[in-house]
Amino acid sequence: MKFRKLGSTGLEVSRIGLGGVAFCITPKNDVKKAVDRALDLGINYFDNARLYGSENKVGGALKGRRNKVIVASKCHFRDVREVRKSLEKSLKELKTDYIDIYHIHDVKSETEFSNIAESGGLLDLYEEFKREGKIRFIGVTGHDNQALVRALKSGRIDVVMGRYNPLTRSIEDSVIPLTEKLQRGYIVISALAWGIFSVPVERYPFLISGKEVPAAIASFRFILSNPGVDVVLAGVRSGSEVEELVSALDTAPLTEEETAEVVFRSFGLGRGSGCTQCRVCMPCPEGIDIPLYYRYLTYMNEYKTSGYPALTWQAYAEPFSRACTDCGICVERCPFDLPVPRDIRMLDSMAENIRHPAYRDEYD
Ligand code: SF4
Ligand code: SF4
Repeated sequence: MKFRKLGSTGLEVSRIGLGGVAFCITPKNDVKKAVDRALDLGINYFDNARLYGSENKVGGALKGRRNKVIVASKCHFRDVREVRKSLEKSLKELKTDYIDIYHIHDVKSETEFSNIAESGGLLDLYEEFKREGKIRFIGVTGHDNQALVRALKSGRIDVVMGRYNPLTRSIEDSVIPLTEKLQRGYIVISALAWGIFSVPVERYPFLISGKEVPAAIASFRFILSNPGVDVVLAGVRSGSEVEELVSALDTAPLTEEETAEVVFRSFGLGRGSGCTQCRVCMPCPEGIDIPLYYRYLTYMNEYKTSGYPALTWQAYAEPFSRACTDCGICVERCPFDLPVPRDIRMLDSMAENIRHPAYRDEYD
């Protein structure tokens, strides 16, 4: 395993961390096996979120080894009373007295961060958690670069977490230079672009230095070649998947030529694979967050046997409540020709079936 300092936190963190989202549908025993294998391989960063339902499984699997690892979790609530309750629940589920990095989950815009940073607001509460010793560092996660930039410029955030892969590279010119300048940590999510890079090598090989490698390894090698990246999260369901992704660390950074080749092949892979979250279709005149809809479609397809889609829908209710007028602007802009209005209508009708108040109990 390779390690590095995470910004100015002083934490020595493994370059590959174990992502928690897929654990929402992974049985407890399999999570334990994945955590054990990750620890054997030297991984020390364990990602969670209240929304994933991963905390109980990961907390149990880490029993007796808490002081050897960095435990992170995230809270999607914005109401200060709900956030305090949620943190207490996270601590209980993770079986720990403190969380190393506590993230404000999925900040969607600069304006949202400004509200969070207001006097008496959420960020004040997170700082109080720090003073109380319940968390050590504050993180912000999000898919909007400007929100992450705004968070970094506030000077009150230790770590940011955002997407990065050969199909989604806008952080290279915005967030990454700022994390480096301000000495803040950068953790990568969506390294496999919601499964687009999870295809088997037989179906879509990447050629690097004359050798065929799976798309997932090509993406990990691409990401790890960027010196501004601290940790890449591997969202896995088994120990063998962790092993495969960790093997990307045994290779040298990609050359310029290899990077160009990986990016070129990635666009071929992206075509016909669904939404790559590139955001080229934005802004929508009705204020609809189109990539968010597509992310949500993935949650519905991938994690439908867990409560995660329902909980996420509730957490995001406001951005989902706008009406598409079928103006077609997004369809014209999308480089992958996705039928956005049709997919939005389909998702709306799918999600209607899971608006069940019982899911609310999870947090009560
Ligand atoms: S078709 Fe719908 S989603 Fe697309 S830009 Fe128009 S209103 Fe927005
Ligand atoms: S709908 Fe198309 S343009 Fe919009 S984020 Fe997805 S892939 Fe990119």
